[in-house]
Amino acid sequence: MTTSIENLPIGAFYEDANGALISCNNKYLDVLGVNSCDNLKANWRQYLLNEDKPLAFSLWEKSLKSKKTIHLNCRLNKSNGNVIWVEIKANPLLNDKGDLTGYVGTLIDTTNQVMFEKVLERFKKAVEKTESQIVFTDPNGLIVYANEGVEKTTGYTSGEIVGTKAGKLWGGLMDKEFYSKMWKQIGVDKIPFSAELINKKKSGETYFAEINVTPILDAKGEVEFFVGIERDITYIKEVDKVKNEFISLASHQLRTPLSSIKWLCELFWQEDTNRLTKDQKKIVGKVQNENERLIKLVNSLLNVSRIESKKINLNPSLTDISKLTHDTVDSFRKQIGDRQQTIEVNFPDTMQELVIDAKLVGEALLNLISNASKYTPIGGRLWVKGKTVGNEFVISVTDNGIGIPINDQRHIFEKFFRAQNANQTLTDGNGLGLYFVKWVAEQHGGHVWFESTQNVGSTFYLAFPIKSKN
Ligand code: ADP
Repeated sequence: MTTSIENLPIGAFYEDANGALISCNNKYLDVLGVNSCDNLKANWRQYLLNEDKPLAFSLWEKSLKSKKTIHLNCRLNKSNGNVIWVEIKANPLLNDKGDLTGYVGTLIDTTNQVMFEKVLERFKKAVEKTESQIVFTDPNGLIVYANEGVEKTTGYTSGEIVGTKAGKLWGGLMDKEFYSKMWKQIGVDKIPFSAELINKKKSGETYFAEINVTPILDAKGEVEFFVGIERDITYIKEVDKVKNEFISLASHQLRTPLSSIKWLCELFWQEDTNRLTKDQKKIVGKVQNENERLIKLVNSLLNVSRIESKKINLNPSLTDISKLTHDTVDSFRKQIGDRQQTIEVNFPDTMQELVIDAKLVGEALLNLISNASKYTPIGGRLWVKGKTVGNEFVISVTDNGIGIPINDQRHIFEKFFRAQNANQTLTDGNGLGLYFVKWVAEQHGGHVWFESTQNVGSTFYLAFPIKSKN
C-alpha cells in the first residue's frame, strides 16, 4: 500500500484535523519543493500565496463544520521561490462517532495546464476582438467560426453565416478566374493565398479588402480547415487614390512650364550666341541641365501615377529586341561618352522577336543603362548582353560601378528607395526608375532581378517570355 502511494504521479498526504501532516509521498514533497529532512513539517498551507490564503482557510473552516471534501485551486510559493498553481482535494476522515479526525488528499501541480488555459483564453480573446475579420472554414469552405470583426465589417452576424459557404461573405464581385485561382492554390496546391479584392457587405455596399487564406493541414497532409484573415483597406485605397490624383495633377501642371523653359533655353543657342559671355553661357547650360532633371522627375512621377491608377495600356507588337536595345544604347552614347565610359553590346546573330510594348520596354532598358552609367565612376565599363534562356529572352546590363550594399538589396525595387551609397555619392535620383522597370517586366509576364557586390559592380537582368503574337 505504502509503495503504491509512493509511486503515484501526484502528491498524496494524510493530516490530522488541525492540519498537521502525518504522512505524505515523495511527489507531495516534490511539488512543494522540500527535501526529505523537512518531511513531516511540510504542510501545503505554509506555502500558500498570501492572496490565496483567505479562500483556502475559509474552505477549510467550512469543511471542518460540514465534513465535506475541500476542493481548491490556488497558488503556492515553493521553497525555491517559484510560484506554482496546484489543485488540492482533501477528503475528511471520520471516526465511528462521526467526528472529523483528519484528511487524506491529493496535491497536483497544475501550473502548465493553468498557463496553457490562460494563453488559450487570451488567444481566443485576441482572435475574437481583433479588428480584422477572421473566419475558419471546413475543407469545403463552410464557415465554422467568424469573429466579431466579421460582423463589424460585413454586417452579417455570426449566426447568419456560420454553416454557410464563405463565398456568401464576399458577394462574388471578382471574376471566376480569381476564385478558381484561389481554390486551386489553397485546396489543390495547399499553399496560402493572398490578394486584394472587392467585396460586398450585407447592406450591398462594396469595399476593398486584403485577404489571406491559409490551409491548415493534418498529419497526412490533407486540409483540416482553412483560416481566412481579411482587412478592410477601403480607406487606404481612397487615400492612395487622392495621393495619385494629386501627383498626376501636379506633374501635368509642371510639364508645361518645364517644356517652355527647355524651349527658351534652346532658343539661346539658336540665337547669336556671341552676344552671351562665357559665364552666361555656363549659366544657361546649368539651367538646361537642372531643367532636364526636373523633366525626368516629373516623367517618373507621371509613370508612377499612371501605374497606380492603372492608366497605362500595353501596346504589344512583334519587336526585334536586339534592334530596340541597340537603339536605346545609341540614344545614350553621348552621356556614356561624357563620362569617358565604354559600353559593349552583345546579342545573338539570329534575330529574336518578342511580343512587347517597344516604348515601355525601351524606357525600362534606358533606365537600366542610365543607372549603370550613373552609378559607375568616370572611365568605368558597361556591358549589355542578350540571350535566350529556356523560353525566355534575358537582357543583362552590367557595370563595374559602386554596387549595392547587401542590406539595401531587398528594397531596391521599392518606390522611392535609394541605397545608402547612392544617396551619399549621387544626390541626383528619385528611386522611381527600378519600380517602373519591375512593373514593365511583370506586365509582360517577365521579371527583373540583379546581382551586385558593393564596390565591384552590378548586373541587372530583364527577362521576357518568348511567345508568338496571336
Ligand atoms: P534612382 O537611380 O533615380 O535613385 P532607381 O529606381 O533607378 O532610382 O534605382 C534605385 C536605387 O537602386 C538607386 O538609387 C541605387 O541605389 C540603386 N541602383 C540602381 N542601379 C544601380 C547600379 N547599376 N549600381 C548601383 N546601384 C544601383
